[in-house]
Amino acid sequence: MNPAPAFWAPWAWLHGAWAPDVLLRADSQGLWSEVSAGTPAPAHAEHLPGPVLPALVNAHSHAFQRAFVGLAERRETAHDDFWSWRDRMYGVALRITPEQLRVVAEHLYAELLAGGYTHTCEFHYLHHAADCRPHDPHGADALAMSRALAEAAAATGMRLTLLPVLYERAGFTQPALREDQRRFATTVDSVLKLRDGIRAWRLPLVDAGVAVHSLRAVRPASLHGLMQALQGDAAPIHIHVAEQTAEVDECIAATGARPIEWLCREGLLDARWQLVHATHATPAEINAVAQSGAGVVLCPGTEANLGDGMADLPGWLAAGVPLSLGSDSQVTRAWPEELRWLEYGQRLQRRQRNVAAHPGLQPSTAARLFEAVLQGGAAAAAQPSCSLRVGAPADLLLLNSHDAALRGLPLSHLLDGVVFAAPQRPFLRTLVAGRWVPQRDAAAGAAFERVLRSLWPR
Ligand SMILES: [Zn+2]
Repeated sequence: MNPAPAFWAPWAWLHGAWAPDVLLRADSQGLWSEVSAGTPAPAHAEHLPGPVLPALVNAHSHAFQRAFVGLAERRETAHDDFWSWRDRMYGVALRITPEQLRVVAEHLYAELLAGGYTHTCEFHYLHHAADCRPHDPHGADALAMSRALAEAAAATGMRLTLLPVLYERAGFTQPALREDQRRFATTVDSVLKLRDGIRAWRLPLVDAGVAVHSLRAVRPASLHGLMQALQGDAAPIHIHVAEQTAEVDECIAATGARPIEWLCREGLLDARWQLVHATHATPAEINAVAQSGAGVVLCPGTEANLGDGMADLPGWLAAGVPLSLGSDSQVTRAWPEELRWLEYGQRLQRRQRNVAAHPGLQPSTAARLFEAVLQGGAAAAAQPSCSLRVGAPADLLLLNSHDAALRGLPLSHLLDGVVFAAPQRPFLRTLVAGRWVPQRDAAAGAAFERVLRSLWPR
């Protein structure tokens, strides 16, 4: 029998600060069984050449959208916004096959692992066949697209929470989906069947919750029915909410309430809920979310790319709402860049510096944001913790402190350097469940290129 993998690092991020001489030991379940600071390096432990950080959860991803990253940055008409981007995104969504999705997702997950994430929550709404004939919800094919994502995760070493999405209609006043949305069609019953099918695989690094596409895409009665069915289930429930001002206006017109206000008013929210974006939230809505225990998933790179608007970061932080990060449309695939965007947006808007820092408590902007999303990411993926502590997933990031961007920085400022002064990803290696993530080979990159060429309009 192989001995339990053990690692010794000169510095490790424990309890929100750097601790020296840390021994970490993983158990056979891929969890940390020992985390001890101030321990001389034992002979049997792998001696790591730099400081280590806990890895983060990527709490919001649509893997297939990696297939047109970099291809939607041109404006050919008078106006371009979220909704015109969405129409172009559907061009890929309607054509991608399970085989193509597996290749795209494998490429993406390898990039995300290199970018400091070891767990991805897939907000997964591509369930039906590419020719738009819905799969038999009781047949094996209903899970073909989910299986493609699980296989990509297994091939790369990514932990995965699959969130099959309830998606019923094209808008608040629309009775059904649009023609180009038919691949997304689900019911409460079919979403629960997808969830159960994923759980029945019993894959070691894969679990399942559910998602609600948005309030505009789901009938209120269905949402209440879903919540009834989820009584006693502790898995996460994710929803896109208040990303666009047009969506907020339509929600008010249809229900008399703003989207987050409506969710609170209906008594739906609890600690299982993750509100994705929540860009347009009033102070009263922020307080109500804080009281519910729900978390918020911020996707700063995508929100900037799509021109969504700016979240009230100081408001969410002050209210103590769990916050996490999502790569969403995949334009950004590393958490240091997401945190940089998150803070820089606030600085530009407020003409202030170090907006997220908390003088007297945590003066480092990067440390305050990193700790926030470390804790919030665990909640988004229904993990007890993602910190380097006993019982947490045995994942970590080995920092390259010899990176040209980080050389000479005092340890006290190293995390600030990673977020604000290191444009490259400064991680040497990524560990998941006690094992180092393998390097990608050239053949995998070539397969991704072939799929991309076949998917983009000729
Ligand atoms: Zn999304």
